[in-house]
Amino acid sequence: MRNQIVAGNWKMNNDQLATEKLLSDLRDLTVKNGTRILVAPTAVHLAQSVTQLKDSSITVAAQNMHAATAGAYTGEIAANMLKSVGVHTVILGHSERRTYFYETNTLLAEKVASALTQAMEIIFCFGEQLDERKQGNHFEIVEQQLTEALFNQDSIDWKKIILAYEPVWAIGTGETATPEQAQEMHQFIRGLLKSKYGDEIAQNTSILYGGSVKPGNSKEIFSKPDVDGGLIGGASLKAEDFMAIANAF
Ligand code: PEP
Repeated sequence: MRNQIVAGNWKMNNDQLATEKLLSDLRDLTVKNGTRILVAPTAVHLAQSVTQLKDSSITVAAQNMHAATAGAYTGEIAANMLKSVGVHTVILGHSERRTYFYETNTLLAEKVASALTQAMEIIFCFGEQLDERKQGNHFEIVEQQLTEALFNQDSIDWKKIILAYEPVWAIGTGETATPEQAQEMHQFIRGLLKSKYGDEIAQNTSILYGGSVKPGNSKEIFSKPDVDGGLIGGASLKAEDFMAIANAF
C-alpha cells in the first residue's frame, strides 16, 4: 500500500542557527505512527540536518540536483554528493525551479533518469499555472508534464517516485485548491498511472498535494481518498505547524 507522507520544503530559508533550532524543535514533537516525514533544508545544511536527525523518524531530502554525475557545472550538486552525506531523496520539478531557473520537462526527464539510475528517491512536482486552470487546460498540462518527464521510466522505477501535485497558483499565495479540486486532480493522475503502468503501480504511488497547506486546512485535504499527504512550503518553517499538518491524517 502507498505511504502517507508529509514533506517540508524549506526553500532558501534559515541560516545555520535557525536550521539547528528548527531541527531540534521538530525532534521534540511527536508524529503519529505510520506517517513518513521528510524535510528539505538548503544544500549547505543537508549534512548537519542528517546528523541532527539521526535516530529520529524524520528523513532529509535535497531540494534539487544536477543530472550529471560530476564535472564543470559551477554551483551544482550531484547525486553521489547527496548520498555521501546521507541524503537519498531529492525534490525535482518544483515550480520555482521551472520558473526562475528555466527547468523544462526535457531537462527534468534527464534529472529524473539520472536520479533513478543513481538510486535516489524522487519527489516529483508538477502543476498548472493560474491561466491554464482558468482556460480549463489543467488536466492536459498535468498529463503533459508527467508524460514528458516521467512516463518513459520503467515500472520498477515507480518504487522510487513520489508525486506532488502543486497548482502554481496555490504555492505561497495563501490560496489553496479546494479539497474537491485536489481530489479531482489526484484521481485523474492515478487514472493516468493506471492506464500507463497498471493498477498496482497506480494504487501504490503516493500523490501529495502542495499549495498553501496549513494546520487549518490539512485535515480536510488529507481526508480525500487520493491525497496521500502534502508537500509543505511556508508552514514547514514552524515546527509546531508542520507537525500539526503531519498529524492531520
Ligand atoms: C511549495 O513550495 O512546495 C509549497 C507548497 O509552498 P507553500 O506551502 O508555501 O504554498
